Amino acid sequence: MNDADKSARSARVAVVGAGPAGLYAVHSLLASASPLGVDVFDRLPTPYGLVRYGVAPDNQKMKSVTRVLRTAFDHGKQVRFLGNVRFGVDIRRADLLEHYDAVVYATGAQGERRLDIPGEDLPGSYGAKAFVDWYNGHPDAAERDFDLRAHHVAVVGAGNVALDVARMLVRSPDEIAATDVPDRVLDAFRNSHVTDVHLIARRGLVQAKFTPEELRGLKDLVDVDIVIRPEDVSMIDDDEARIQANRQLRTNVAMLRDWAQRPLRGKSRRIHMRFLQRPVRIVGENRVEGVVLERNEPLADGGVRGTGRMETLDVETIFRSVGYEALPLPDVPFDRARSIIPHHRGRVLDGNDLSTEKEYVTGWAKRGPSGTIGTNKSDSAETVSTLLADLATRSSYHGSDPERVLTLLDDRGAQYTHWANWLRLDDHELALGRSQGRPRVKIPVLRAMLELSRGSSARGAIGGTE
Ligand code: NAP
Repeated sequence: MNDADKSARSARVAVVGAGPAGLYAVHSLLASASPLGVDVFDRLPTPYGLVRYGVAPDNQKMKSVTRVLRTAFDHGKQVRFLGNVRFGVDIRRADLLEHYDAVVYATGAQGERRLDIPGEDLPGSYGAKAFVDWYNGHPDAAERDFDLRAHHVAVVGAGNVALDVARMLVRSPDEIAATDVPDRVLDAFRNSHVTDVHLIARRGLVQAKFTPEELRGLKDLVDVDIVIRPEDVSMIDDDEARIQANRQLRTNVAMLRDWAQRPLRGKSRRIHMRFLQRPVRIVGENRVEGVVLERNEPLADGGVRGTGRMETLDVETIFRSVGYEALPLPDVPFDRARSIIPHHRGRVLDGNDLSTEKEYVTGWAKRGPSGTIGTNKSDSAETVSTLLADLATRSSYHGSDPERVLTLLDDRGAQYTHWANWLRLDDHELALGRSQGRPRVKIPVLRAMLELSRGSSARGAIGGTE
């Protein structure tokens, strides 16, 4: 088949996951000269993945990247959204390989790491992801309740997610009301008793993973003091060299040192930033009553060593925010040691490090949970450039008639949704927000989301309070 014959039939690409990595991949696919048809699958009836369900609700500015991402669907039938389709249940790997010329996995990191310490599963000890899902109105968390009646809360970890969680916990109810959280979540924050959040980092401030932009966000908290003990911002000689070599680090350290010197202003709530402390065990009779911390000392290589000096911090709730991790997809190769889909420049590798025929990966499933939303743009561009180079070597395309996939989904009884359904749900959430003077009010219950997106009445479920 020559190029003219080949272009008579467009290659068909399936993208699994409608988050930023998947939608940036669609953008890169559309920017290519090749005529392509793209189907974007998501297990939820909503697009935007981590932008909708990971970025903290008080960071609406960052969420506005959806204006860019949504243009992936401005191309009529060339790009279809197929929401509420579960990979491995409603559509399987073998189906995608049969019906498409290329498959891009952009499924992110659905799991999270554990601390592996005694007491971790006591009531009152939660993975940060569960809390993030909940305050962001993720349907997986629709049944969950967070009791915010604790006064003292620990957040373990020194990354941006830990900062998000700490910041949300000390925000005033009025500030939370200015976000898009579901009504039920807003009610819980209105009834919150939290006064002190202890952010616990096992290494020093130089090793903290906060980005300056996110750390600066703590300055805007209206009724909150930041508490840092002077000994926690003391450096070892090697730290100074690291700080001088890195502009981001210089910004972070300057901010943290400034807070450490500043007198407290008698605010109602506090974030205590504690560095060089390792949680050893979580204690409590029937629920969390405290966490035992071992003082660490810094080593020249950036690592730490335990000193054996223990302290018990009295807290009633703990959020563990020590990193997300990708989970295996049914039948898709997975590197368990690195918790990613193994690949070379985005082309998926099988268990013997050989390229699979037409599978690709992008985003957190490819590189692990690192970087910001924007990092996915270059990441997806690399994957798509590998994919397009591979397609160019093919003598023919085999992707099937777009209707056949819909028939397959119908045969499986999948209640899939289209882009127009999402737009209807989007309109509903925005209208609900306008009626309360808020940017949006999220609907967190899957059944209500589906009903609203189809235009059927779900009055009883509005606001997800059913
Ligand atoms: P992260 O940046 O990898 O941070 C994980 C933190 O957990 C690190 O401080 C790590 O310390 C600590 N940790 C790991 N295992 C631990 C253990 N056993 N005990 C105590 N501490 C432990 O992960 P993340 O915060 O989940 O963020 C994920 C990604 O999302 C990052 O790229 C982040 O920048 C991004 N993100 C961005 C934004 C934003 O831009 N607004 C917001 C949220 C998240 P060590 O360094 O010592 O391992």
